[in-house]
Amino acid sequence: MKILIIGGGIAAFEAAVAAAEQKNIEVTVCSREAVLPYRRPALSRMVSESITDNAFYLKDAAFYRERGIDIKLEKEALRIDRKKKQVFFKDGDTIGYDRLIIAAGGYAFVPPVEGHENACVLRDYDDLQQIKQRLDEGIKNAVIIGCGVLGLELADSLLAKKCAVTVLESGASVLSRQLDPESSAAVQKHLESIPDFSLKTGVSVKKITPESVELTDGTVIGSGLTVFSTGVRSNSKIAAEAGIEVKQGIVVSSNMQSSDPEIYACGDVAEPPCGSYGLLSAAKAMGHAAGINAAGGHEEVVPDIYPVRLMALGIKLFSAGKINDAKSKTVCDGGNFQRLTYNACGDLTGAILLGDLKSAVKLQKEMVR
Ligand SMILES: Cc1cc2nc3c(=O)[nH]c(=O)nc-3n(C[C@H](O)[C@H](O)[C@H](O)COP(=O)(O)OP(=O)(O)OC[C@H]3O[C@@H](n4cnc5c(N)ncnc54)[C@H](O)[C@@H]3O)c2cc1C
Repeated sequence: MKILIIGGGIAAFEAAVAAAEQKNIEVTVCSREAVLPYRRPALSRMVSESITDNAFYLKDAAFYRERGIDIKLEKEALRIDRKKKQVFFKDGDTIGYDRLIIAAGGYAFVPPVEGHENACVLRDYDDLQQIKQRLDEGIKNAVIIGCGVLGLELADSLLAKKCAVTVLESGASVLSRQLDPESSAAVQKHLESIPDFSLKTGVSVKKITPESVELTDGTVIGSGLTVFSTGVRSNSKIAAEAGIEVKQGIVVSSNMQSSDPEIYACGDVAEPPCGSYGLLSAAKAMGHAAGINAAGGHEEVVPDIYPVRLMALGIKLFSAGKINDAKSKTVCDGGNFQRLTYNACGDLTGAILLGDLKSAVKLQKEMVR
């Protein structure tokens, strides 16, 4: 059986490895990137640091060869013909399949503000090269639009490169998806004390030029590098155009099967019954299941709690599960903060830790969905 995988991230990797382990399966992976699958979270750190190939790439070329996985780079899928079971590629090639796995991930959302083309994003290896080039040109100030985990990680790396950073947040508070108002206020206070770092909440961007960002209140901020960190959207266009059911992502059942039984989807591109996560561990689990199932096996993905961690700008954060539930208990001890959330039955459903993260793993194990 021929399994074709579109994508070159962790979900595609896991799917390929799981499928190739089954008998009589031919696996082809087509990634539009020019480099082998890598650890995407490392990109933030690589803005200021060099890391080894071993730490960056999931595996080297020999790994794929040894497992008979044919991995094709700079191979962008443009169209799926479900009747003929063929995928058409940008380079003019056409590849047939018995089972197709779409693991095309997500793209960084760019709001349609005036001059948005003067800003960049950090989603893939090419984006990293663009940011590094600007730093090499000697830029001294940058603006990051969006104060989420990725925006703060990037800010940390830019400060390490001696580049002053302004982070703009349209919401009233920082990290609102991970923190409750009390811990968010504590993080905000800490951020405001960092030299060369400026935070503006409750603001909106009017216009971006190559040298500045103008806010709707008239403030103009000098910026040699402007980066959007405003969320991720599913790369599901190719599936929607082929008539596969798509909502926020490609709709899949718990075995990663799409509305077309011969087509599976996994990772950030997919929308499983429990909703999309946008996290590495979730993409990994979905990729593994998609590979097994496409090859004729059986594996369900059970909904899980995937924590978010941030270690940047002096912040040590662990946030998992529900931020709000029936009851909560907050303990502040010096620089450490712990907020535990419980449902009406008294089960632990969420935890926010700042500072001391020693109990994180234990709490995660105790947590129920
Ligand atoms: C800077 C950064 C830091 C992050 N840090 C963390 C973290 O600390 N913890 C965490 O849990 N998550 C983190 N994430 C999120 C995590 O990386 C993603 O959830 C994960 O990579 C999703 O994996 P995926 O394989 O589904 O998609 P992706 O990693 O997006 O991979 C999809 C691949 O498919 C390719 N592709 C897309 N369309 C096509 C096409 N038409 N044809 C061929 N190939 C195509 C893309 O180029 C890409 O290579 C981070 C993300 C970024 C960008």
